[in-house]
Amino acid sequence: MDIKKIKNDFPVLVENDISYLDSAASTIKPRNVIDAINYYYEKLGVNVHRGVYKLSYDATERYELSRQRVADFINCKFDEVVFTRGASNALNLVANSYGMANIEEGDEIIVSELEHHSSMLPWQHVAKEKNANLVYVPLSDEGRITVENFKKVLTEKTKVVALTYVSNVMGYITPIEEIIELAHEVGAIVTVDGAQAVPHMKVDVKALNCDFLSFSGHKMVGPTGIGVLYGKFELLQDMNPVEFGGDMIDYVYLHDATWKDAPYKFETGTPLIAGAIGLHAAIDYIESIGYDQIIQHEHKLKNYAIEQFHKIDGVTVFNETSDTGIISFNIDNVHPHDAASVFDQEGVCIRAGHHCAQPLMKYLNQIATLRASFYFYNDKKDVDRLVNAVKKAKEFFA
Ligand code: PLP
Repeated sequence: MDIKKIKNDFPVLVENDISYLDSAASTIKPRNVIDAINYYYEKLGVNVHRGVYKLSYDATERYELSRQRVADFINCKFDEVVFTRGASNALNLVANSYGMANIEEGDEIIVSELEHHSSMLPWQHVAKEKNANLVYVPLSDEGRITVENFKKVLTEKTKVVALTYVSNVMGYITPIEEIIELAHEVGAIVTVDGAQAVPHMKVDVKALNCDFLSFSGHKMVGPTGIGVLYGKFELLQDMNPVEFGGDMIDYVYLHDATWKDAPYKFETGTPLIAGAIGLHAAIDYIESIGYDQIIQHEHKLKNYAIEQFHKIDGVTVFNETSDTGIISFNIDNVHPHDAASVFDQEGVCIRAGHHCAQPLMKYLNQIATLRASFYFYNDKKDVDRLVNAVKKAKEFFA
């Protein structure tokens, strides 16, 4: 991989002398994505699905081409792709629509302490509303979701399994394929939070056989404000919309209305046209690099960083066996937010906080952690800068 060339594709990296190690929060954007978004605003700028003039046809065509691009990318059908505002919005849609219609008193919903709040809270809400039980997969000693532990909580009462594919704090990959198979044996559906998976590894929804998959554009070099909900068509078709208004209807009567087929009944109002077009460009960019390269590269950087951390006294890494490019750590006696501000002075951008995973912080017995997350535009120099910043923070606060 020619990292120097890749870095040059990202204006933020060209214009700022920084080591950007916060890609698990949001990735930065390459030129082709910015150009695609600008193309919409400069050359089209009009609405979709409505206008009977060429510009509107062109905008509609590009918007729908993006849907097809996403469908090809995750291996599903065109009408199984719902554009949302992001992963949170997609995860909430499943809970508010499928969950509210199908969960009954006494049913069980399996989640985990590894979940991002956006994967957990929508089901907490459903469980409360429906008097159902939220059941947690016990985490292994390392803090992983394992098939063995999943089996311990799976019962005939399980109706929904809502789990993350890759933890945004621990970087662990959930053995989701086996979990999906087991869940289906008891008739439960599985909604997968793919926000940290899709940007870093090939996700094939047909091979996984998941029922729903949610992810965000902005974590995969795409725009903010666009995300995807994949759902099996028969499930989507059975579900009620959760937002009502323009563009999602078939016919409106005074006291009733009918909806379009999926996915359109879930895309109320003017959609995120530029966002969808930008997401198309983001997928093009990621595929031009290739997932094999991305995974290998992230692994190398993560292993190198952990190796360097081992040489510094008083650095605790919480996920030594991370499967991806995410490292969560703390420096003894230094608050993560204090450390992050020293990092900032050194030009190193990383995240400090609870990472929208407070139950996991409790599990780790920490109020917050530092999190460095690598992507394909990072190199060894970025890691060296991070390691140097850790030493500086230690000196400063010692
Ligand atoms: N799920 C995971 C695992 C995440 O890391 C995030 C974002 O950090 C989300 C869900 C929510 O994504 P968004 O903020 O794009 O809706």
